[in-house]
Amino acid sequence: MEGSRPQEFEVDIGGAISAPEAFGASFDVVPTSEALELGEGLEGDPALAFRRTLGMFATGVTVLTTRVGEQVHGMTANAFMSVSLQPPLVLVSIDRRARMGVLLHQGTRFGVSVLEAHQTGLSDRFAGRVADDPPEATFELVHETPLVEGALAHLVAQVVRSYWGGDHSLFLGQVEFARYGEGQPLLFHGGRYERLVEDPRVFSMLPEELLSPILALGTAREYADGQAIMRTGERGAELLLVVAGSVRVERPGRSVTLGPGELIGEIEVLDPGGGRIADIFAVGSVRCMAISREQLLSALETDPRAAIALIEVLAARFRETA
Ligand code: FAD
Repeated sequence: MEGSRPQEFEVDIGGAISAPEAFGASFDVVPTSEALELGEGLEGDPALAFRRTLGMFATGVTVLTTRVGEQVHGMTANAFMSVSLQPPLVLVSIDRRARMGVLLHQGTRFGVSVLEAHQTGLSDRFAGRVADDPPEATFELVHETPLVEGALAHLVAQVVRSYWGGDHSLFLGQVEFARYGEGQPLLFHGGRYERLVEDPRVFSMLPEELLSPILALGTAREYADGQAIMRTGERGAELLLVVAGSVRVERPGRSVTLGPGELIGEIEVLDPGGGRIADIFAVGSVRCMAISREQLLSALETDPRAAIALIEVLAARFRETA
């Protein structure tokens, strides 16, 4: 597991699952099939249009695992959802032709490994997609259930109910174990892998000889301990170089401390209409150099090599997610 020590906890099941009636006696009464109506502009194969419509729902990617004797079986699945906190329940939807569906039944345990952004190779491997050099998967056993090592989060659940789901079967699992670490999730959207782009660096990727003349245009600013340098959402079109002291950058889900030589406000100075993307506070007394958008644009006009280098930085960022 990457990053900090994973957080791990046993789940309080809070008593046995109640009687089947609690789930609704009419659950298995299935409506007769009716033709699927396609919205305007969607012509052609209705099954494909339906599939593409569903593909607009972005998900994470998991590898489901189970053990039969000493044999470990894994399968990539994005049809995973949380169902209930008390009792802790999750649901997976498995193609009736999949081997995994045959292995799961009431009482069996399955593992859910939530894949990290770089684990596309493992996803392909457990989806049976052919690759030249597929990564090896290693497993650890928790509650006698295999989990894929290096994943972002893990769950172990025991199948407590299964349901008819057309060409899929739905397995409701009562969660016995849960753990997560820090990192970025692998995403699946529109039939392909995606990942979150969280790296806000743009100007700091420029070579020193192109960046220095830009930063030299700045004017000095002082901030006292705890003073807000930037607030999420507020308008701002300045790039700031931290010269002395440290700043705390707080964004939902994570925070980071930056020191001398680091830049802040890199995205907003290029896109001032969107507002600040983080809260930033001074830690101790801080000195910065502030470069306004106007100063920046005029520096880029003076030396177009810096503008071209910026375009290359942004293109590389797109390539990472393509
Ligand atoms: P198999 O096809 O026999 O095995 C799957 C692959 O895993 C094989 O290549 C096998 O060699 C490998 N494998 C299995 N165990 C091990 C092991 N111990 N060590 C190393 N390799 C192993 N299908 C669904 O039904 N539901 C979904 O929600 C779903 N979501 C998907 C999401 C994505 C992003 C992708 C790419 C596919 C998804 N699929 C889903 C399709 C599903 O992953 C494949 O159809 C898969 O092949 C079905 O697995 P299976 O149980 O039939 O086993």
